[in-house]
Amino acid sequence: MRSTSVEEARSFLLERARPITEIERIDTIHGVGRILAEDILSPIDVPGYDNSAMDGYAVRSEDIATEGETSLAIGRRIAAGESAPEYTLKSDEAARIFTGAPIPDGADSVVMQEHCRVVGDTVSIRGPVSPGMNIRPRGNDIRADTSVLSAGIRLTPQALGLAASIGLSSIPVSRRLRVAILSSGNEVVQPGTPLQAGQCYDSNRHTLFGLLANLGCEILDLGTIPDDFDATEVALREAASQADVVITSGGVSVGEEDHIKRVVETIGHLDLWRIAVKPGKPLAYGRILDADFIGLPGNPVSVLVTFCLFVRPMLIRRQGAVPSIPLPRFVSAGFQWPRAGDRREYARARLVPAEDEGLPKAVLFERQGSDVLSSAVWADGLVEIPPGTVIALGDKVAYLPFAELLG
Ligand code: AMP
Ligand code: MG
Repeated sequence: MRSTSVEEARSFLLERARPITEIERIDTIHGVGRILAEDILSPIDVPGYDNSAMDGYAVRSEDIATEGETSLAIGRRIAAGESAPEYTLKSDEAARIFTGAPIPDGADSVVMQEHCRVVGDTVSIRGPVSPGMNIRPRGNDIRADTSVLSAGIRLTPQALGLAASIGLSSIPVSRRLRVAILSSGNEVVQPGTPLQAGQCYDSNRHTLFGLLANLGCEILDLGTIPDDFDATEVALREAASQADVVITSGGVSVGEEDHIKRVVETIGHLDLWRIAVKPGKPLAYGRILDADFIGLPGNPVSVLVTFCLFVRPMLIRRQGAVPSIPLPRFVSAGFQWPRAGDRREYARARLVPAEDEGLPKAVLFERQGSDVLSSAVWADGLVEIPPGTVIALGDKVAYLPFAELLG
């Protein structure tokens, strides 16, 4: 078994991630979280015409170039949605105008209504008024033939709004990545059935399902594999024939009840690493048929941490998107770490506000075992503790919020 660093393992997986190449067109309105598959150029200017940024009066600024009040005749009324193509603002005239309405020919400025006084059929405006005031020129947001969205972005609500603003009712996105998930272990049973002695409920598949759902994957939830070579082989072949990526939890240590490793070695190809990380030491990557295989450790906290550190960046690239490696922020240790470890450790932590002007303080959940899933629910992130390090109260430590780790 190879021993490797977090960075090495992550780069190894990223290098092997083959981005999805199949493209499908979907309704723009349903695109949130999908990966844009092609660069988008705008066919139009947005806005398509000069328009008013205010409710007020469109004027010729030259009519109100001086200080003091100028009185103008009120001409045409132009509301949003109207156009007045044949209309030209005369001199000493103001057009009543509303936000989003087209600026009439002749006008070069809009005076907001709060600065206007209507007297009968005239409007009195205090000068001077400069040209261009409160006008949103054509193309102010987007110019025709320019690039507005790049291939590989994960579509946000605002990106979809932008796509709609240039008139796209549908957009090209990468096919959803199909990910099969399986738990392993004779002791693992499904919630909803009574527990017998020696059994535990399958938390990992639920954690993984949520993690993958957040990434917008199509999930094939294939249940549990017993600790048996033949059953494992059948289950993994079946999973690999349907999915782009197969993720299992448990059964990848080197004990004789850990069949997943042996099966993948037999029917495919496997790299198994002892990663210098805690929690999460054993992690397997391989291929079965044309699917990628990821074997996560069995312990529930290890599943979460290894998913965040290794699997998520790889899946993001596999989806056709650009993965971002989470950057830690530095906070003050609100805990002591008196014994140096030999692996990099990711401790479940919460931030509390600084007492004075200083950095926020990270405090740790009291039990840091990889079986203690409560720690990951209590925590809002992970403190990264390098190997060979002791930490005293107030030392600077690197903190990765779950919000960043999980996107
Ligand atoms: P293993 O890697 O299969 O030896 O599993 C390590 C530990 O994780 C054991 O205590 C298992 O019972 C536990 N475990 C494995 N799979 C799951 C699961 N799906 N849900 C909860 N605990 C699990
Ligand atoms: Mg097991």
